[in-house]
Amino acid sequence: MLLILMYHRAFAAPECRLLDSDSPASAEPAGTLAPWHRPRRRAGDHRLGAGNPVPVLQAHFEYLRRRFDVVLPGEPLHPRRLSVCLSFDDAYADFYAHVFPLLEKFSLRAVLAVPTAFIIPQTSLPMEERLSVTQNEAMLGEVFRSKAPFCTWEELRQMVSSGRVQVASHSHRHPDLRRADVDAAFEVSHSKSLLEQNLGCRVSTFVYPFGAVNARAHHTVMRHYSFAMRVGSALNSGWYPHRQPLCRVEADNAPDIARRLRWNRLAALGLKWMANGLRATAGKWQSL
Ligand SMILES: [Zn+2]
Repeated sequence: MLLILMYHRAFAAPECRLLDSDSPASAEPAGTLAPWHRPRRRAGDHRLGAGNPVPVLQAHFEYLRRRFDVVLPGEPLHPRRLSVCLSFDDAYADFYAHVFPLLEKFSLRAVLAVPTAFIIPQTSLPMEERLSVTQNEAMLGEVFRSKAPFCTWEELRQMVSSGRVQVASHSHRHPDLRRADVDAAFEVSHSKSLLEQNLGCRVSTFVYPFGAVNARAHHTVMRHYSFAMRVGSALNSGWYPHRQPLCRVEADNAPDIARRLRWNRLAALGLKWMANGLRATAGKWQSL
């Protein structure tokens, strides 16, 4: 079985420490918690967006490396144990600043989903300034040029050549591909061409912007890619689940990854996988 974890950002600042969305609010006496310790119920509550503080992400990597086979798309899965794939969306600059060094430290590999319209060749802006841009601001207008909140092509090349990072397309301009006014064919193919030309590698994975997909968009994607990932909170039976999109489980805002991956949680994700299979058989996977 395969579990694909979905991450967004990694924060260095202590004010970015979050509690698990299902942590009991009464775990510490009310009134003694600093503002950054208070439970947040939604990923988007944070001023910079969804993610984990760096020490928390480090604990994730330590735990996952110890307990599971961590794989990339298409690689063989362990016959008896759960295999895990790490995926990071949007290629924010904090991936280069914080996540990449952790991947090196723990000898892990991850998929990085890149929306190519927002990638500039290089930048001399201080990293601190780049990291201060919020998730909502980053894709507005020309912010990607003036504040460089995303990884640059130069940084992506360095990470790809290290062997620790496999890039995936996250479309060109990060639209919801289900919308009738979006040119899905362009978004899907142009981003792949840009990644392959600029990074000199083959790109075989597409990650749906917003995790959103319908049958039309998926059909377009599968003409260009071997693997497509959505949001789905379910396990996968393998890399080729009946040509359906692969489901991903949110791992942002999770101070305790072991708690997120307890056997009962995994069992629930397994049940969802079975339900997905039944729906796919009935041709209704897109409504999962
Ligand atoms: Zn995204």
